[in-house]
Amino acid sequence: MTIETDFTHDANATSWVESANGHPHFPVQNLPLCVFSPPKGGEPRGGVAIGDMILDLADIADSLELDAATAARLASGPKLNDLLQRGPETMRALRHALFTMLTDDDHSKALESALHKAEDCDLYVPVTVGDYTDFYTGIHHAENIGSLFRPDNPLLPNYKYVPIGYHGRSSSIRLSGKDVKRPSGQKKPAEDGGKPPFGPSARLDYEMEMGIWIGKGNGLGQPIPIDKAEEHIAGISILNDWSARDIQAWEYQPLGPFLAKNFHSTISPWIVTMDALAPFRTEQPPRPQGDPAPLDYLSDEEDQKTGAFGVTMDVFISTAKMREDGDEPHQLSTGPMTAMYWTAAQLVTHHSVGGCNMMPGDLLGTGTLTSGEEGGEGSLIELTQGGKKPITLANGETRTFLEDGDEVIMTAYAEKEGFARIGLGECRAVITG
Ligand code: MN
Repeated sequence: MTIETDFTHDANATSWVESANGHPHFPVQNLPLCVFSPPKGGEPRGGVAIGDMILDLADIADSLELDAATAARLASGPKLNDLLQRGPETMRALRHALFTMLTDDDHSKALESALHKAEDCDLYVPVTVGDYTDFYTGIHHAENIGSLFRPDNPLLPNYKYVPIGYHGRSSSIRLSGKDVKRPSGQKKPAEDGGKPPFGPSARLDYEMEMGIWIGKGNGLGQPIPIDKAEEHIAGISILNDWSARDIQAWEYQPLGPFLAKNFHSTISPWIVTMDALAPFRTEQPPRPQGDPAPLDYLSDEEDQKTGAFGVTMDVFISTAKMREDGDEPHQLSTGPMTAMYWTAAQLVTHHSVGGCNMMPGDLLGTGTLTSGEEGGEGSLIELTQGGKKPITLANGETRTFLEDGDEVIMTAYAEKEGFARIGLGECRAVITG
């Protein structure tokens, strides 16, 4: 299923909300969803980012018609699950109506009171995340991690057939900006057969990932075919899958990550919709020569042609000292979202193929997206070669893993000749002891 571009992707369109024009993340061509509460107080409710502002959907629902009005009403509460469940047509109707109003001066007076300065609003995780699954689609990351944890056997033979994943913990997902408390736990003994030490993780790491939001769900026992999978995806956000490597190394066999990753995951506030991303869809990079083709249930020509996302991700660190000295954050890495070995559609189809029911608001993590190029490492364990080679930051500080006071900042954007650049905002958090 390819989403066509339409009038809402016109690069020349401008908004009477001045700050939207040329905004690096939220021009009128983006219109990502969020949940916020306005500065004057009030219950959390759905909104849409436009430039530096948030448009209150509850406030304007009565001025919309048909599907767009339905969408705005479904988004009027503190969680967007009901809107996501309605699927792409309803979401598209809302986008079309908002784009029309925000580009036509005649609406500026009527909408003024529904606009709030984003920096004065409180933001919330926009959906109730019933289930969270983290995949492992970054093949360069899988190879790098595999060779650190299992030097003789980095990539297991199932990797090129099965989109590998594990069930994560949804209760500890928090919005960007919320501090992350360093976890304590059992850590890998220094020598084989030794007693595991217990204490605060000394190898705390981030993972640069993207989050894929499930929209419309499927019934139990009713798998989602690959050519319908994208109808079940509402949009994407930035995800940081914090990972305690010393806990992970001890506990991960035989059943996979557990406490090393369940203490906290950070998500960006904005759901960038599949419609907003339409111009930036791109072909799934061909598999390296000699790799097997995906099994039939994961194969779809259209998906291979347009199933990847032309999104670029950047990671920065800002240490306590940098903030004290007024220094800019130090860039750790950059890379494309096309580092995924599997498409988003393949993840959805695989997740449901045994009959598992996906629910609106479920979150799928892509796994760490390491590019395979130098400077594209999506985690510190890769940047520092397992903690053996500290990196030096711009101000002379060094790091192997994260220290208390470190802030990790992730951003992402999509740009393409002939279209307005859109961004996904930021996903940031500070480590505390
Ligand atoms: Mn991960």
